[in-house]
Amino acid sequence: MIEQQIKTAIRDIHDFPKPGIIFKDITPILKDPELCTKINDAFLEKLQGLHIDAVAGVESRGFLFGLTLANKLGVPFIPVRKAGKLPHTVKQKVYDLEYGTATIEVHTDAFNPGDRILIHDDLLATGGTVMATSQLIQEMGGEVVGFSFIVGLSFLNGIERISPISDNIIILAD
Ligand code: 5GP
Repeated sequence: MIEQQIKTAIRDIHDFPKPGIIFKDITPILKDPELCTKINDAFLEKLQGLHIDAVAGVESRGFLFGLTLANKLGVPFIPVRKAGKLPHTVKQKVYDLEYGTATIEVHTDAFNPGDRILIHDDLLATGGTVMATSQLIQEMGGEVVGFSFIVGLSFLNGIERISPISDNIIILAD
């Protein structure tokens, strides 16, 4: 089963990036092309019937499967990047972190107003990142129609946070 295969592949890195944090390292998945294909297929199957005009992937691990997903759906990919990385005109969103703030940016011509957008990232923790992404997309006139993640850390209650935006939330391994 894919959930078990993902869980087996992911490794816990203690004290990364800071002491006390257990980081879920997804890079072993990338070494397994068969598993990558299964992940893409699982997303596509679960997204069936949902009309999607574009996929927004969150820097940087959201780019890994987000672009493939967009390609397979035959729709544009929207890179959501940290401040100062995108070269053209951007719209940005500042959001709160546990300590301090972070800023994300999207090109102003990345999608059209009214587009139905799926937000993709590798992992859902507190939901803060995809919440800020949703707000930015909405402020730019897009409609957030769902979320997809490879992994969810359910004890951090990210689902509760983002479900008011859309309850189409795909998490392959919880
Ligand atoms: P959130 O905003 O939901 O609290 O955190 C999710 C964001 O932080 C995602 O962009 C994700 O890539 C990153 N992130 C936080 N913790 C981890 C982790 O343990 N493993 C991985 N791969 N990413 C994480």
